[in-house]
Amino acid sequence: MRSSDPPSSPFFPSIPRYTLSGLVRQDDELLHFRFPKLSASKNLVHAVFTRHGGVSGGPFASLNVASSVDDFPALVQENLARIQGSLGAEELAQAKQIHGDDAVVLKRDYLVSADGSPSADALITNVPGRGLLVKLADCQGVILYDPEKNVIAVVHSGWRGNVQNILGKTVNRMEKEFSCRPAAILAAIGPSLGPCCGEFRGHEHYFPENFRRFQVRENYFDLWAVSCWQLMEAGVVGDHVEIAGVCTRCRADLFYSYRKEGKTGRFAVAAMLRKP
Ligand SMILES: [Zn+2]
Repeated sequence: MRSSDPPSSPFFPSIPRYTLSGLVRQDDELLHFRFPKLSASKNLVHAVFTRHGGVSGGPFASLNVASSVDDFPALVQENLARIQGSLGAEELAQAKQIHGDDAVVLKRDYLVSADGSPSADALITNVPGRGLLVKLADCQGVILYDPEKNVIAVVHSGWRGNVQNILGKTVNRMEKEFSCRPAAILAAIGPSLGPCCGEFRGHEHYFPENFRRFQVRENYFDLWAVSCWQLMEAGVVGDHVEIAGVCTRCRADLFYSYRKEGKTGRFAVAAMLRKP
């Protein structure tokens, strides 16, 4: 076992934790990974991009998608253009992420902005051709897809997102806005801080009591399992959940890791409904 392999989990053992070799690797113009189950959905385009294939330099090398981290805006724009091209998206929507629990619903008449407003940590849409993107360095990028109603969401959930249950709230919002059935929704949890590196000192001051069952050793938590549990509490079926099982801090060669690097970029998890 290499140090980059996450330990096997006692939590939700039937939910796959793929590790890199279990994900679908796409080496064409812009390297990215896909989830095996989501890849079977023909109406869905999705991708976990890496830190490679862009134009940013220094600590942001090279496919940084966040201008809030002190990178040159023109370089970030070029990186986003490459991602938009790779997805084949007509437009690419993102939000200013604030570690909150709000979702923005982008319906047909909702104008998307390229500059990262409004403030939200989840984006939901039913508009084909409209790509949704979240920016990450250790936080979880989670893709939700309802193949019945043809609705997608991408969610940025760090530990603060888990504390506020943004995943459950986003599922609720899909139900409310689009009459999605939670039992129909597919969910995929991207590369992020694993239980190997998920140290939360002083957690008793900011984690709710019911997170304690997902503690793997003193001060270490399995937030992938927390997210699975929150999705299932919202009605998502365990069989419909998949986990990349890749820890960003262990694989900072491929992904940005705030915990490991401090000053660094943000990588992208993106999804789009394919145009008929
Ligand atoms: Zn790790």
